[in-house]
Amino acid sequence: MGLDWAKYVCPILLPISFLYDSILYWLTLARYYTRHLHGTHEERVLKVQEQVRRWQVEGRGRKMCTARPSWMSISQQKLGYKDTMYRVKIDLGDVLEIDKEKMIVRVEPAVTIGFLNRLLVANGYTLPVVPELDILTIGGLVMGGGLESTSHKYGLFQYICSEFEIVAADGEVMIANHDTNSDLYYALPVSYGTLGFLTSVSIRIIPYKPYMKLTYRPAYSIDETISLLDRETHKATSNDSVEGIVYNVNQSVIMTGQYVEEEEVEKDKINRMGLWFKPWFYKYVEKFLEKGETIEYVPTLHFHQRHNKGTFWLTPMWLPWAHNIIARFLFGWILPVNPQLLNWLKETFVGGEFEDNFNLQDFIIPMKHVKEGILLSAEITDVWPLWMVPTRLYQPQGPKSLMPRGGDTMYVDLGVYGLSHLKTFKGRDATLRLFEKFALEHDGFQALYAETLMTNEEFETMYTGDLYYSVRKRIPNCEKAFPRLFDKISREGRQGKKIL
Ligand SMILES: Cc1cc2nc3c(=O)[nH]c(=O)nc-3n(C[C@H](O)[C@H](O)[C@H](O)COP(=O)(O)OP(=O)(O)OC[C@H]3O[C@@H](n4cnc5c(N)ncnc54)[C@H](O)[C@@H]3O)c2cc1C
Repeated sequence: MGLDWAKYVCPILLPISFLYDSILYWLTLARYYTRHLHGTHEERVLKVQEQVRRWQVEGRGRKMCTARPSWMSISQQKLGYKDTMYRVKIDLGDVLEIDKEKMIVRVEPAVTIGFLNRLLVANGYTLPVVPELDILTIGGLVMGGGLESTSHKYGLFQYICSEFEIVAADGEVMIANHDTNSDLYYALPVSYGTLGFLTSVSIRIIPYKPYMKLTYRPAYSIDETISLLDRETHKATSNDSVEGIVYNVNQSVIMTGQYVEEEEVEKDKINRMGLWFKPWFYKYVEKFLEKGETIEYVPTLHFHQRHNKGTFWLTPMWLPWAHNIIARFLFGWILPVNPQLLNWLKETFVGGEFEDNFNLQDFIIPMKHVKEGILLSAEITDVWPLWMVPTRLYQPQGPKSLMPRGGDTMYVDLGVYGLSHLKTFKGRDATLRLFEKFALEHDGFQALYAETLMTNEEFETMYTGDLYYSVRKRIPNCEKAFPRLFDKISREGRQGKKIL
């Protein structure tokens, strides 16, 4: 069973999704402004500690995970392990403090990036890295990984986090930063909840500038694409944002941006692309292949949310008519469909599986191998467009064991999202294996929110676990309380077929 049903269900789901998102947003806002009335952060953390201590008595050999239902995660696979593991409810959805002196915001993990960014913007700030989909949570972005078009400058989402607070397996609260429990500080990101329960995160903020000056540069061959991307990423100029959308082997648009103040804006070049009737970002960008190099000024919030309506380019799978100009005027304001509700329908009624020709993967590979990556994707999927975001992975101050295999070099996230219509398509699993092999052989990484079929040995080559395993040993009870990362994110683990 694939996603065909979604075309029929989504027109009905659309208003429900709009209501759901609006109510959630206003409740979160109300929760923020009444935060002093519903208990302190410490009291909420105490409830997590009590549950962990209860597990010690009544866990009966089960390992722990968060009680957040599977459908609420953006990960597209049904998280079967939630049915058998000991679930700990983490009701932590407050923004705790915006410290304007230290330029830090302290938040609880269930806060969404969309809400946090809007709140910061209203206060004159933003985050250095704002991952594009509004519903991603801070906990998910730390524990599962996050990046965006500013990641060539700031790196992964976790690199802008200065401190984590967790409830460990013995029920104690641990603070982890560069100086205190620094092994935990470096090992926690992308550990998928297998080192403890995250209860708060301190994140760097930067002053907000109201516009992004965005330059669209078309490229008409794969070599031109790579050299433009490389040049703009490494250029000593102040590119705050670098992103590419590849429309086919020979056509792409590379976009670079700088945040600017109101007075620097050329008013006749303003594009309020977030307005409800405006074309979806990837459709709009494609026009520059004909139009040629162009500069625009995009309101910063519109820029941050540019991929929301099209869910990159997945929305046409469930609303094939929705980009039509009349549809945009009539219904554009209720987009996007909330992916969580879609997940819920999928998991409840059709078992959570996708079409065999559906691809949804991100591979993070050194810039020098991106050309081969695009050619491989063209050959084995012919799925277009592809997303490209340069990403810094090398952290000179970080532990050696976390250094990327490619060394001190720029990486690029290559996103492959969509249905393959290739007659020679080998099937989802065989295709995924080819991508995984490519990533392994080219010092690359695979994003773990998506499915992986790697063996344990391959996984250990990609994500060297020395630091991770030593932290698991050091924290009392940790190995008993939480599954190993690979066991949790492997297909068997996610399906709940493996006893964790
Ligand atoms: C369609 C789609 C679009 C995407 N777009 C982007 C994008 O634009 N930019 C980007 O960076 N990424 C993107 N991602 C990837 C996404 O950022 C990661 O999958 C992220 O982990 C998802 O966050 P979530 O809020 O859904 O978290 P979840 O999937 O719920 O959580 C991820 C993991 O973290 C653990 N976890 C969460 N909170 C806690 C806690 N408090 N304590 C312990 N463990 C915890 C969970 O148990 C789980 O194992 C996208 C993914 C998809 C499918």
